[in-house]
Amino acid sequence: HIENPSVLYLDGVSVSFDGFKALNSLSLCIEPGEMRAIIGPNGAGKTTMMDVITGKTKADSGTLLFKDEFDLSQYDEAAVANIGIGRKFQKPSVIESLTIFENLEMSLKGGRSVWQALRHKLSASQQDKLDEILTMIDLQDHQNNLAGNLSHGQKQWLEIGMLLGQEPELLLIDEPAAGMTDEETMKTAELFKQLAKSHSLMVVEHDMDFIEALDCRVTVLCEGSVLAEGSLATVKANEDVIEKYLGR
Ligand code: ADP
Repeated sequence: HIENPSVLYLDGVSVSFDGFKALNSLSLCIEPGEMRAIIGPNGAGKTTMMDVITGKTKADSGTLLFKDEFDLSQYDEAAVANIGIGRKFQKPSVIESLTIFENLEMSLKGGRSVWQALRHKLSASQQDKLDEILTMIDLQDHQNNLAGNLSHGQKQWLEIGMLLGQEPELLLIDEPAAGMTDEETMKTAELFKQLAKSHSLMVVEHDMDFIEALDCRVTVLCEGSVLAEGSLATVKANEDVIEKYLGR
């Protein structure tokens, strides 16, 4: 019996597209409360990995477990969200014609149409949760502004707030720092460190300054499997990593 099961356990996961192995026996574990950065060249399989974890793509073989309890090969995208895995894509999907407050309100109520969600009153605990999220993403002073008027960075934070509204245990986040100013990038790293106190996070990113600021364990993917794993300094010094990724 495992005392402290991994939040995410991937073992020997393979996915082929027309005979091309996008994932080639990928094995990887994320521990509870861990933040993990995923790096690697274009085509390494980072997106495909997120897709198999979230049921968007089916693995051909291998084991995918969430909290040692849920066999992820059996879940589709909607069901994966319900068991506590939240995914944020690179492109924000906030509703620009609604306020920040309303966007968060919708995410907390989940599943309903916009107008149904906004007619329905928040419970006291949902209101507390919304306030907590607003503070965490530092948009409390903007809560009644339209989301469409936010900066790129603020929209990304709002979207993370909306993900938190679904109360996920594991967050999968795709290139959060892309398109951000240096200041926004560093603020995002601080936000993630805050989030990591109560969530597990997997962050796919190319921005090395951002990864350095995250100060977490790094996994380098290449050709569909793990090339190296460890601190950023360790993987940067790895000869295979230099040859196949950094040296390009
Ligand atoms: P990364 O996110 O690391 O850039 P991807 O997971 O997007 O890598 O892609 C890994 C490889 O799989 C790439 O060579 C890509 O062209 C291929 N691939 C990904 N999705 C598909 C698909 N739906 N059909 C065919 N090939 C795909």
